[in-house]
Amino acid sequence: MGYTVRQVIKVMEEIAPSYLAEEWDNVGLLVGGLEDEVRKVMVCLDVTEDIVYEAVRKGANMLISHHPVIFEKLRSLRSDVGRERLVYLLARNGIAAYCAHTNLDKVSGGVDDVLAARLGLQDVKPLSVDQRERLYKIVVFIPKGHEDRVMDAMAGAGAGWIGNYSHCTFQINGTGTFMPLEGTNPYIGQQGRLERVEEVRLETIVSANRLDRVIKAMLEVHPYEEVAYDVYPLANRIEKHGLGRIGKLQHSMLLKEFVDKVCNDLGVSNVQVAGWRDTEIQTVAICGGAGGSLISKAYSSGAQVFLTGELKYHEAQAAAELGMVVIAVGHYPTEVFIVQELVYRLQKAFDALKYEIEVFAAETMSDIYKKVGR
Ligand SMILES: [Zn+2]
Repeated sequence: MGYTVRQVIKVMEEIAPSYLAEEWDNVGLLVGGLEDEVRKVMVCLDVTEDIVYEAVRKGANMLISHHPVIFEKLRSLRSDVGRERLVYLLARNGIAAYCAHTNLDKVSGGVDDVLAARLGLQDVKPLSVDQRERLYKIVVFIPKGHEDRVMDAMAGAGAGWIGNYSHCTFQINGTGTFMPLEGTNPYIGQQGRLERVEEVRLETIVSANRLDRVIKAMLEVHPYEEVAYDVYPLANRIEKHGLGRIGKLQHSMLLKEFVDKVCNDLGVSNVQVAGWRDTEIQTVAICGGAGGSLISKAYSSGAQVFLTGELKYHEAQAAAELGMVVIAVGHYPTEVFIVQELVYRLQKAFDALKYEIEVFAAETMSDIYKKVGR
């Protein structure tokens, strides 16, 4: 059986819903078509020429990258002009390219959470909360005795997940009434007679990206011909996703020790530090990539240090003037760990769905910056 780009995107939408992306960003399917066939998916941070040729060599039909291969407006699609050449090569080789960028940064379990975990931070929360996750309450009326089956189907499709708990529902018994009319084929009762049935009102919550799937799963196992169910939009405050993270070190340590730890944990030989002083570090704010816009958030959240990929000179200066230490590790080393995580999560999802799609991390990825000199 052939699998399509559309099916892979559905899984990616679960991992990093595209509605979380910043407005200026360019995420989603950037090259290729939804019905293109996919047998192998290659995951990478950036789409480069090496990456495209690796995909060709390994027979990958789809690339999933963190940074978008198309960002600036394309005015032509020439094979001899920088970025355009990459898009041209992808199209010519029939490789679809999908991007999850700021949505993957923000999402719970995304770039910044992976970075926080790498640094061993605890009590991790988003630094700048994004409240765009849309939640719905779904209520369904089920004849008594069938509620477990319906609940399992809905939970299996992603309803009722709160934190680390699944199958979160509320159930109450009551009486349902209905009168089957002409032309019906009722599960219970007879045409033209008012029926009273013991029913369970089951309610649970579901995120917007899973709503359709949950309704479909519920309808498939519900015994009634006409299922009574309601869907309500919710206005609950969700503090799960957002740019940057703030968390605590297991033990406080001197800045010097913290810098050594960062180098070890992130596999770099040195970092840039602004606002250096002999201070104890316990609360750490982080942001993978370019995190300059979060400096004041990091400071007002009580972090003693803000660690990011890269900062402009004057951003680092402003942070130091606030009295907060900033550490710039390099863009690539703060984001690269998401690649293996994505491979792992995609493979797990494909296995659960019984999709025979191979997923692997690109081998030709490398930091554009190389350490040279003495
Ligand atoms: Zn980045």
